[in-house]
Amino acid sequence: MLDHKVCSTPVTEIGKMNRRLNRNDPCWCGSGKKYKKCHRFQDEASETERDSIHLPMAPKSGISKGRVSPTRLVPAHIKRPDYVKTGGGDKTSSRRIKLTDQDIEQMRKTCRAARRVLDHAIKAVRPGITTDDLDAIVHEASIAEGGYPSPLNYHGFPKSTCTSVNEVICHGIPDDRPLEDGDIVNVDVTLFLNGVHGDCSETIAVGQIDWASQKLLTVTYESMMRGIAAIKPNGYIRDIGQAIEAHAKRHNFSVVRDYCGHGIGTQFHGDPTVPHFYEPKDKTRIKPGMVFTVEPMINMGIWKQTRWHDGWTVVTSDLKRSAQFEHTILVTQEGADILTLPE
Ligand code: MN
Repeated sequence: MLDHKVCSTPVTEIGKMNRRLNRNDPCWCGSGKKYKKCHRFQDEASETERDSIHLPMAPKSGISKGRVSPTRLVPAHIKRPDYVKTGGGDKTSSRRIKLTDQDIEQMRKTCRAARRVLDHAIKAVRPGITTDDLDAIVHEASIAEGGYPSPLNYHGFPKSTCTSVNEVICHGIPDDRPLEDGDIVNVDVTLFLNGVHGDCSETIAVGQIDWASQKLLTVTYESMMRGIAAIKPNGYIRDIGQAIEAHAKRHNFSVVRDYCGHGIGTQFHGDPTVPHFYEPKDKTRIKPGMVFTVEPMINMGIWKQTRWHDGWTVVTSDLKRSAQFEHTILVTQEGADILTLPE
């Protein structure tokens, strides 16, 4: 099973090996027929076989086997976002976020702190650790920064971070399932500090992962960075998704369409909405002073998703793996300033 283990082939080479023909190209077999009318179906079937080496986290029933621990407490002196009292969402009726220069300075600090919290968690990822352990790390590290873990009781979410394993696209609830060698896990940290939220996430390999998963992680990270590189003051929000989707498709992956990047600041989620795919109808301009996230979710298989019965956990409908990376971005006169870079 050597070829299923991590290999040292550069990702660019893997990309070439896997670059697939377009539907209307002549088939590789020399029949003269269009690829879609000839070998496309067989090629896709053998890919499915290759990917099926991954056992799904939960069978199609949508009931997780993991148990969720009791709610973690936040000391009284930590300032909470308004939604915590009600278990609802952002308090303001408008999705518009207006940030003062002072707010933007606070955003810089909060985003750096959120990044430190995330780094604590990802350093701890190894086979045998549970996602509940990661939640405890995020919870304690958030409080140590003087902040509140934004997900906790946001629309009733029961934990301080989202942990999304393997086919989980996003919003996974930390539980007592130990991570296994070969898993991939996304840890998503949002911190509320100084009156503003900072948001970042990474997908991490647990032990040794197969090369297809490694490729997924690398391409997802690259897609995020290409999306960020497409940010130009007075450009279009849709340029971001265009860059991300082009890169993902080049590697034969798909882009999740129903969850997007978002404006962030005094609210957890606000305008603009940042699709990670090309949306030609979206004429929203990128303006200096905007702060939003870029957080593509990239799937090995199809982009469609379904949700577990817990009401939160979003999984790929074909149960193939999904990865995500996220940064919070400040638009400046020059371009994009990544606020959640590691120090
Ligand atoms: Mn986010």
